[in-house]
Amino acid sequence: MITLDDFDTYPDFPVPGVLFYDISPILGDAATFRTACAALMPREPVDVVVGVDARGFIFAPVVAQQLDVGMAMVRKKGKMPGVLLESTATIEYGASDLVISPVGIENKRVLVIDDVLATGGTAAAVAEMLHRAGATSVEFSFLLELDALNGREALDGHTVTSVVRVP
Ligand code: 5GP
Repeated sequence: MITLDDFDTYPDFPVPGVLFYDISPILGDAATFRTACAALMPREPVDVVVGVDARGFIFAPVVAQQLDVGMAMVRKKGKMPGVLLESTATIEYGASDLVISPVGIENKRVLVIDDVLATGGTAAAVAEMLHRAGATSVEFSFLLELDALNGREALDGHTVTSVVRVP
């Protein structure tokens, strides 16, 4: 079982006033990493797994391989070529321009994986792009959810699973 003790915490990172939860201890132990990946599996059948830049990229490929489905990337703007959908996420410490290729998303059931659900700005922007790309359903799995920031409210109508929740 993954608990809050499996995360390191860093006050005032990356900006003053933010308590940053670091997943490095989870990655550093094979059994804990395996447990974390297993806990991120979807509740419903999915056709594709989407990993969110950057720490979602650590877990999404493992889950996709386990499910025997493909994976797609949500990237920060400027890192991916081709015809892209774009959205701006308002997050805890600023804004972030995100992009995704719509190829392979239309009529697909999607699982989105990221490490942390904070304000929900990132995840809501991802959901909006995926719906625009024609996804039929969008489910979310996070390792950690910061309840106080109400991110879940931004994902109304979606199945949201968090392995650990911070009250
Ligand atoms: P949100 O958009 O929900 O406010 O923030 C979530 C995004 O910011 C995720 O992509 C996540 O990786 C990153 N993030 C926000 N807070 C933390 C944190 O405390 N620890 C880690 N590892 N990532 C965070």
